[in-house]
Amino acid sequence: MELVKGVHVIETYATTTLLIDDRLVLIDTSADADAGKIMDYLSKIRVKPKDLSTIFITHTHPDHVGGLAAIKHGSPAKVAAHRIEADFIARKRVYDGPPGVQRHPGTHVDVMLDDGQKHDGLEVIFTPGHTRGSISLLDATRSLLIAGDAANNESGLGPMDDRYNVDPKQHRESIKKLAKLSFDTAIFGHGPPMKGRASTKFADLAKQL
Ligand SMILES: [Zn+2]
Repeated sequence: MELVKGVHVIETYATTTLLIDDRLVLIDTSADADAGKIMDYLSKIRVKPKDLSTIFITHTHPDHVGGLAAIKHGSPAKVAAHRIEADFIARKRVYDGPPGVQRHPGTHVDVMLDDGQKHDGLEVIFTPGHTRGSISLLDATRSLLIAGDAANNESGLGPMDDRYNVDPKQHRESIKKLAKLSFDTAIFGHGPPMKGRASTKFADLAKQL
């Protein structure tokens, strides 16, 4: 569905986001089994994987990186991720956090991202703790935060289940970091998007952490 103009939220196991303006950007690729679902959505709105400029991966968990190899296949899109996460996505290093052994086909990361960097119109917010190199992305022109799994909105806004966090304390520090930003809309890896003064809800949560 189109959440706000040019922002498509594709309902896969973990949310996939597509931004459309003067460029086409995909954020996350869900699980392996969902790659077809993402392709079907793209074709329905007449977007071809080869026209994507960047595929951002917020973190290396299987339900965010699983579909990457299939979507990237035959597409010149650049894959972008935090530099800490890049070797896990490429499967050059064994990821040491939950949920355990990685099985996705390794895909090379072309663009190494750092905190505060802007790439293809999005600002990188380094939000480690869920995984070692997790990021969220801020689209300032739309006042939109794409949180990834830096927070969860499945039963109200909160941290992710600590069974899936490599460093629960750091994960909470990252939520506090997001709470200092200003954004109206937020999209989550898990749970429905939040519309209207979303950052105030992050600020409320941060006070309780
Ligand atoms: Zn995750």
